[in-house]
Amino acid sequence: MIDLRSDTVTRPTQGMRDAMARAPVGDDVYGDDPTVNELEARTAEILGKDDAVFVPTGTMANQIALRTHTEPGDLVLVHRSAHIVINEVGGGAAISGVSMHGFDSVDGTFTSGEIEEALGRPHPFNPDTLGSPATLMCVENTHNAGGGTVWPLAQIQDVCSTARDRGLRCHLDGARLWHASAASGVAEKDFGENFDTVYVCFSKGLGAPVGSALVGSREIVRRARRFKQQFGGGWRQAGVVAAAALYALEHHRDNLIRDVHEAKRFATEIAGIEGVRVDPDSVASNIVRFRVVGDAGDVATRLHEAGVHMLPNGAHGLRAVIHRDVTDGDVTRAAEVLAACLT
Ligand SMILES: *Cc1c(COP(=O)(O)O)cnc(C)c1O
Repeated sequence: MIDLRSDTVTRPTQGMRDAMARAPVGDDVYGDDPTVNELEARTAEILGKDDAVFVPTGTMANQIALRTHTEPGDLVLVHRSAHIVINEVGGGAAISGVSMHGFDSVDGTFTSGEIEEALGRPHPFNPDTLGSPATLMCVENTHNAGGGTVWPLAQIQDVCSTARDRGLRCHLDGARLWHASAASGVAEKDFGENFDTVYVCFSKGLGAPVGSALVGSREIVRRARRFKQQFGGGWRQAGVVAAAALYALEHHRDNLIRDVHEAKRFATEIAGIEGVRVDPDSVASNIVRFRVVGDAGDVATRLHEAGVHMLPNGAHGLRAVIHRDVTDGDVTRAAEVLAACLT
């Protein structure tokens, strides 16, 4: 099976498993797991921040960020198709009591003008006690639902400085920040310096089995650790999985550009298939979103029967994600199988 459902399907390599087996461990709830501590320090260093907290999932990292930065009743500015909005089971409302203002665009980006419009113009005649106080803005880079969009650094600087001028904090959902950096040549910390907190993931493109981190100032991460524990994220000999993440940072981070090139090649090849609609120029990272004329669910089922696994999205959309466990040959084969399924 050529599994293109997500980069989360990547399996730990032998070298990674060896590193996990060898890892010195302690009790992370007591703060004395040396491998977790090393991972947190290394992640903070890559992101150019003081500290990081290692958590089981990206969803938990985002939810901790929401809780850390807001009070119940606050308003969060975020794109309407962000993972935080559509894939976290309403966690922002359920756990932190926030409501969300959703920006609308095809690719998942938004502008400082839209932020200003969402926040309105304060005037002494209008009491500021009526609206929900907007306290946080979230950016997702790459933006998954937008098709793996890589935000231009200048646009990130612009939206973050506008949000900050208006008193908001800024959080980056960087589940695929590694791919954003590989594709753009902009270092993770150059994206990261615009944000109060950055979430990065070890279990997607980097290939670790489990784990994410929330990175920020010493003070913010101290507060975040409280909510990690409250949300049930206190784990004990977590060094076993932290070792996999450290191994991934060291050994699996340098060739992510290959995934980007292969995603563009896949898009270019399937663009020639009758009944497929895709713009290869819009493929910016390791995600290819394309449309088919027929029912996407039927196409996904036929692809699966022929040995290629993809996720349908809506009536006509499909998503293919290129990752380290698919070879260039698998990518070629997947395009051929798609052609065969559509004729
Ligand atoms: C996968 C993903 C998450 C959440 O990660 P999990 O570890 O699966 O909880 C958050 N944001 C984005 C953009 C993602 O793609």
